[in-house]
Amino acid sequence: MAAKYILAIDQGTTSSRAIIFDLNGKVIACNQQEFPQIFPSDGWVEHDPEIIWQSVKHTSQQVLEEAGISSSEIISLGITNQRETTLVWDKNTGKCIYNAIVWQDRRTSEQCKKLRNIVGLSEKVQSKTGLVLDPYFSATKIAWVLDNVEGARLKAEKGELLFGTIDTFLLFRLTNSMQHLTDATNASRTLLFNIHENRWDDELLSLFNIPLQMMPEVKDSAADFGVTDVNIFSPAISIGAMAGDQQAALVGQGCLSKGMMKSTYGTGCFMMVNTGDKVVQSAHQLLSTIAYRINGQTTYALEGSIFMAGATIQWIRDGLKFIDCASESEGLAQQIAYDHQVYMVPAFTGLGAPYWHAKARGTISGLTRDSGIKEIVSAALQSVGYQSRDLIMAMKKDGAHPHSIRVDGGMVANDWLMQFLADMLDFDVLRSREVETTALGVALLAGVHSGVYNGLDELKNIYKSDITFTPEMSDKQRQHLYQGWLGAVNAALNITEQ
Ligand code: ADP
Repeated sequence: MAAKYILAIDQGTTSSRAIIFDLNGKVIACNQQEFPQIFPSDGWVEHDPEIIWQSVKHTSQQVLEEAGISSSEIISLGITNQRETTLVWDKNTGKCIYNAIVWQDRRTSEQCKKLRNIVGLSEKVQSKTGLVLDPYFSATKIAWVLDNVEGARLKAEKGELLFGTIDTFLLFRLTNSMQHLTDATNASRTLLFNIHENRWDDELLSLFNIPLQMMPEVKDSAADFGVTDVNIFSPAISIGAMAGDQQAALVGQGCLSKGMMKSTYGTGCFMMVNTGDKVVQSAHQLLSTIAYRINGQTTYALEGSIFMAGATIQWIRDGLKFIDCASESEGLAQQIAYDHQVYMVPAFTGLGAPYWHAKARGTISGLTRDSGIKEIVSAALQSVGYQSRDLIMAMKKDGAHPHSIRVDGGMVANDWLMQFLADMLDFDVLRSREVETTALGVALLAGVHSGVYNGLDELKNIYKSDITFTPEMSDKQRQHLYQGWLGAVNAALNITEQ
């Protein structure tokens, strides 16, 4: 039977998914499995590598079985993944020597703080990697494993240990220990990769005390990553793409030219704008990162994130118990005008870009005797629009000029919020027809590698928007509402101990 499908593995923070796409980018079948989060100590977050591996193996075998599709019908496999999460394993046994340390884990905060205090170091790290010196990224997590697991450093120096982000670990397992590779997007999240020169940086490896021999070889995002072991799929499937989740979503949203932007509104929000073949260095603590690398050509992106997006609505539901389900927020917000003067600054876990105040905490301000649930729910949704505007303003100041935004994630089902977003950003908001944009992105990259598509230009035609939200608000009202938000943020920062 002729091969006519692409398989994508989407290994996320709370679940693993395997999705089969046809060559038009349509989902044919999907299988998903959630797995436990491990919180060993305050601020620590881990995953069990064996459970992750089993969930990936299970969902990808299961999806083929349920769809009645043989692996011979799969042209190529792509892997997309939660980024920065760090694993270290024994080269010979393939067993991890410690749990996966998840991107959210803050155990290396002190170490990062010490490094930030070294004059000029933050600037140097940013100029090489595009990132900020923060526990979020892999480097200090790797060092932590080497320093805290007995005998690990010695073994690493002898070349007996390997490092990988989730993509690399899954590839190692899928290929029966044959391949120790990553792609440029995942490499660009480690704090060890020079994004201008596209190589592991010796100076950074020695700064973080990480032996080069642990590091995977870095390939293009669409490349030959080897073939799966026959004990997993028979016949074997060739692996043609790997990309970090946000970068894969950028591709899945068809943001393949300079200035095109996507934003994913889930628990948090990740906004990314394609900056073409130039690294745009941020003066506002946005991250510069690799969007994708194809045929040796690197495309860059600028990224900003909001810690609390859908999570604010979860709090309204589970904490305040104002609503029974997230979608009820839309009906409540619709009942009142935008201009109710109530602002919620959802700094539950601090504020990210462009403020970067780890210790800031949330506020609700502007309450009057007639304020009620509707105003608070509206203010919670509006906070997502205002924070998005904050990020766009920072991107513009940094020299990126987005002209529209393509959105995905659970929150985009809320039409009221999407209209408010268009009004606040003052440009079109396009909601994708395909909800699985992350998996689609890596499937498309795998298709490019296997020759299904003739390069990126063909991918642009696959994107279809479901609906476009167009700005309707007057400039005057936008400015008025946004000034109120900036005032609320200032007040929140002023009452927070810095
Ligand atoms: P993640 O992938 O981060 O787990 P999802 O993309 O599945 O998140 O989105 C889930 C989030 O979206 C939840 O935090 C939920 O509160 C929010 N959400 C879902 N539907 C709506 C809605 N109609 N209006 C507002 N928020 C919503």
